[in-house]
Parts: sequence; structure tokens; C-alpha cells
Amino acid sequence: MMLENEAGAWAKLLQIDTPIAYKGQDALRRTLFDIVNGMVRVRSRRAVDGLAPRAPEAWPDVVAKAWPTIWTKPPHKIPDGWCDLVVVMSGELARTAPDAQVVDAFEDHVQATLSLRIAGDARVGELPYIYAHVSSHVCRECGSPAKIRRVNLGTWALCGGCKPKGIS
Ligand SMILES: [Zn+2]
Repeated sequence: MMLENEAGAWAKLLQIDTPIAYKGQDALRRTLFDIVNGMVRVRSRRAVDGLAPRAPEAWPDVVAKAWPTIWTKPPHKIPDGWCDLVVVMSGELARTAPDAQVVDAFEDHVQATLSLRIAGDARVGELPYIYAHVSSHVCRECGSPAKIRRVNLGTWALCGGCKPKGIS
């Protein structure tokens, strides 16, 4: 099935470049695999409901309702394609840093990554940077494996299917 290929594609993308310096590459790799597998699980569930690959329209409200202490307001500034990533991240936050609160979350058009400000729980640690790194490999439109592309004046994480014509 398509989704198993996605896990492989992400694993490849995330192993090839390692732009973040991190203590313990093995630990980082495990974390990245957990995130990728989590996204594939979320997408599989949606595929069963006939929704994948597109995100459900009201997903920011669903996320805010599911994790009300983490999301004090729905994450409307995050593109739909990153919805699965946000679901996985919210679950991880709830497990590892339950007092955390997302202060701000938006798409950074310079880095083409998910920019996160999280307060309230020191156990958050490197999590915002790790999810930012993964987001640059997740299509902002449809959630498929993607890479960073220059479009006009911005940079965007886009898959081959969603990139505008004439952009490499
Ligand atoms: Zn796409």
C-alpha cells in the first residue's frame, strides 16, 4: 500500500541530510522513525475513513479539543498538510511534557518548517527543533513525503505532485 512506501520515503529523506547537531545520533534517528511511523499510522486511520491524503477541514479544532491543555487555541496558522505531524507531536507532548502549552505555531516561509514556541514544561527539550526538521520533509499541501522548494520569494515543503509546474 502507498502508506508503507511513504514510511520508506521519509526514512530515506531524513537519513540523507542531518542538518541538526544533536547529542546521540542514534537517539535522534529513533525519534525520527517514531515520528514517521506515527504519521503513517494517523494517515492509515484516515485512509480507512476515506479521508486521506487530504486533512479533514476542521482539523485544527479537532486537535485543540483533543489536547485542550496543550492547544489553548486551534492551530489555524499551520497548513493542512502538516495535520498528521501535529497530531503525532501533540501525542508526544502529552506523554513526555504534559504541562506544556503551545504559545505559537506557524509555517516559517524562510526555512519552510513548522515553527513552534512551547512554554510551561522544561521536558519539551529539543522537540520543537526535531518537529521543525521533520516538517521540511512533509508536503504542506497533502502531507506526503516532500522536499524544500523555492517558489517565488518563499521556500515551501512540497511533494512532486503539489509543486507548481516549472519548479524543481
Ligand atoms: Zn503534496
